[in-house]
Amino acid sequence: MSLAPAHDDLVGRLDRAARRADDLGLGALLVTPGPDLRYLTGYDAVPLERLTCLVVRGAGSPPVLVVPALERAAAEASPVPALGIEIRTWQETEDPYALVGSIVGDATAVGLDDRMWAAKVLGLRAAMPGAEQRLAGAALSALRMRKSTDELASLTRAGEAIDRVHARVPAMLRPGRTEAEVGRDIAEAILEEGHATVDFVIVASGPNSASPHHEVSDRVMRAGEPVVVDIGGSMPDGYCSDSTRTYALGDPGPEFTENYAALQEAQWAAVGSVRPGMACEDVDAVARGLLSGSGLGEFFIHRTGHGIGLETHEEPYIVRGNALPLDPGMVFSIEPGFYIDGRFGARIEDIVACGDDGAVVLNGRPRDLCVVDA
Ligand code: ZN
Ligand code: ZN
Ligand code: ZN
Repeated sequence: MSLAPAHDDLVGRLDRAARRADDLGLGALLVTPGPDLRYLTGYDAVPLERLTCLVVRGAGSPPVLVVPALERAAAEASPVPALGIEIRTWQETEDPYALVGSIVGDATAVGLDDRMWAAKVLGLRAAMPGAEQRLAGAALSALRMRKSTDELASLTRAGEAIDRVHARVPAMLRPGRTEAEVGRDIAEAILEEGHATVDFVIVASGPNSASPHHEVSDRVMRAGEPVVVDIGGSMPDGYCSDSTRTYALGDPGPEFTENYAALQEAQWAAVGSVRPGMACEDVDAVARGLLSGSGLGEFFIHRTGHGIGLETHEEPYIVRGNALPLDPGMVFSIEPGFYIDGRFGARIEDIVACGDDGAVVLNGRPRDLCVVDA
């Protein structure tokens, strides 16, 4: 099942995308199946080797969707026809790249969606040798970053769904089980709690907790160990969840507990610092400054967060060097951690929306270390 945004929202997005393309001197935006296509048209097309490509031309010229003949029915069942997008099909022996080129016409530059497959990039280059290829993200990320009221509602539902999964995690954790066993239970719960897909499951126990992107392994969990659980999925409307809580199988010892308290303070201070106009890198600096003050700075080895929407990782990135000021409607993670190689690590991650007066936190599970009976 795939749910589409409201018709008026889609019309507005296409319109703004076309105007931004004009402003940037792009003759067209070329968008293949993926989050940009879904954002602009509600068409959740499967990425395949055959070319499907939305051509968003400058304001005044209606968009065209090029699709393989065998996918016409799928495209017609999507919101595409109601948006006034013309569907042009190609047969197996035709050259779809030349077709796109003829629709674009003369252009000195085109914008390609940031996730386009290299084979398609090169096919389009050959068909339009006179058009410089740039990233469509320059036009689209500014739109996708600022969520509409409906999108905020979608992300709120995603946050609630992953919170319900975390609420079930303590019952899954006990010494003697493997990370993989717990991971399978969590994946099932992610679907049971309303997601359409499981996007990732990290269950990182003991020394594995010191690896931020550890997934799961056959390691058997033992009493006294921390377990970092970072999980997410996509809801039927495409919006993603992503939340981390750190658990412990019984008392993890004074050093871990003290470090965790410092992390919790840093994470919540960063959440509390969010407000319109604040630079993304300044939110990062709040978390990093506090962890450094606690002697954990060198162990906080990743950025503080990432935007989230139709993709788990999208703009804005909450990282040093990103001076972009926060705007109301931007939604991103705040997920500092510490990772002490060979020993242990921890992370706390919430998704927050920048509201008019500060952060609106979309995850509600307690942030205290969750100590499970062991
Ligand atoms: Zn990550
Ligand atoms: Zn995460
Ligand atoms: Zn994240």
